[in-house]
Amino acid sequence: MANDVVLSLAGIDRHYGQGETVLSILKGADFTLKTGETVALVAPSGTGKSTLLHIAGLLEHPDAGEVTVGGIACHDLGDEQRTTIRRNSVGFVYQFHHLLPEFTALENVMMPQLIAGLPHAEAKERGKQLLDYMRIGPRAEHRPAELSGGEQQRVAIARAVANAPLVLLADEPTGNLDPETASYVFSALEALVRQSGLSAMIATHNHEIARRMDRCVTLVDGKIVEFHP
Ligand code: ADP
Ligand code: MG
Repeated sequence: MANDVVLSLAGIDRHYGQGETVLSILKGADFTLKTGETVALVAPSGTGKSTLLHIAGLLEHPDAGEVTVGGIACHDLGDEQRTTIRRNSVGFVYQFHHLLPEFTALENVMMPQLIAGLPHAEAKERGKQLLDYMRIGPRAEHRPAELSGGEQQRVAIARAVANAPLVLLADEPTGNLDPETASYVFSALEALVRQSGLSAMIATHNHEIARRMDRCVTLVDGKIVEFHP
């Protein structure tokens, strides 16, 4: 059923450069993500994982093709509408946390909720719940610089889901962490995604993590191809 699909990419092209030095990264990439489904994106460096996630998250425009988020086709929308959809429907986790350094962990998780218009008390309550869920509640008043890499990523994950998005996009979310911390952080991410019925697309080089997802895809010659790890 079509309304079962939270994210779809159809015929996505993306190239960089001009003239004789055009680098074609995505060439007619197609993909659909259903409600509650988790998908690992596993592909070598430089093949276009980040490009794909940025396009799916409406952070970047494709050169051709259509991105549909929550049933809304985004190609012809203006920047303001795209921003609204991105804020309400998409959660993004980067390899490096990208937390705001001058704010506490709790404030970082509250921020997207306040921007979305939630009252301060509600944003704070939900922020605390999410940090507790990520087992980082006791560090709520600390700034990012006072947290370890794994703690920073757990805050970044809490922030990404603060507005209860339709889809979580994570770009090598544990790529900067040592294996043990990566495993712990990923388990917390996975539990949160499963418990909330979120749909997720997660770029990773970690095959153990990839196998825990419902499906695995890779990039071959600019297209998205299913594979079994
Ligand atoms: P991955 O995340 O799989 O490592 P990326 O999506 O970051 O791959 O990049 C894919 C390719 O596109 C790389 O060769 C990269 O150098 C190139 N690329 C990415 N962004 C730009 C850009 N803004 N300008 C030019 N080339 C870019
Ligand atoms: Mg990348």
